[in-house]
Amino acid sequence: MYRRRSKNTDSNSSAVTRYSYADEYALTVQEANLLYWASSLMGFTYSFINHFITNAPVEPPFNIPQLRFVHAGVAVVHDQVSGTNVANVSSIHRTYLLEELIDTENEDFLKFIHNGNALPLLPPSHPLYQIAEFLCFTQHVQYFKTDRAVFLSDLQGTKTLLTDPQIMTSPEIAGGNNIFGEGNVGKVFKEFPEQHACNDYCEWFKLP
Ligand SMILES: [Zn+2]
Repeated sequence: MYRRRSKNTDSNSSAVTRYSYADEYALTVQEANLLYWASSLMGFTYSFINHFITNAPVEPPFNIPQLRFVHAGVAVVHDQVSGTNVANVSSIHRTYLLEELIDTENEDFLKFIHNGNALPLLPPSHPLYQIAEFLCFTQHVQYFKTDRAVFLSDLQGTKTLLTDPQIMTSPEIAGGNNIFGEGNVGKVFKEFPEQHACNDYCEWFKLP
């Protein structure tokens, strides 16, 4: 994992530098956990959708897009520890996030919703605008079903696979430690009820 070098370092050196082993490990695990939680929340959202449709007297008048987050895992390279075969935190050398490949050669990679705003990022004329609207609706489902605790944002990917999400929740959770990274913008979380615009999905699924 890389970060930008601070401006006052040697201008001849590369603009980016790799994190220290310990920081790289912590940040990579955080990224992987974001995907893990996002997958779980999206699964929870589809459970709500499927349960509602099963009990509804009529079929929904629109398609339900089928999206999920990429599968991912963390690979840790340990230094050889002399005299023991047991790997531990101090022997961590490098950490890698392994993510399912998104086929961007055959499918457009798009940002559907930004983490700074709860509205579709695509114009209504865009062929995948319906996906962006559907994802706005999933934010409303998550916010409502978790009693206003959390929703997913920074939603990007193709029409079937998403990656690199942001968990939006109150920054006060976990005693002010921003366990979900810097993209969890407290102001945006607070403003969600005003920012979100209910669409046909919200209406049909009778979200309050
Ligand atoms: Zn809504």
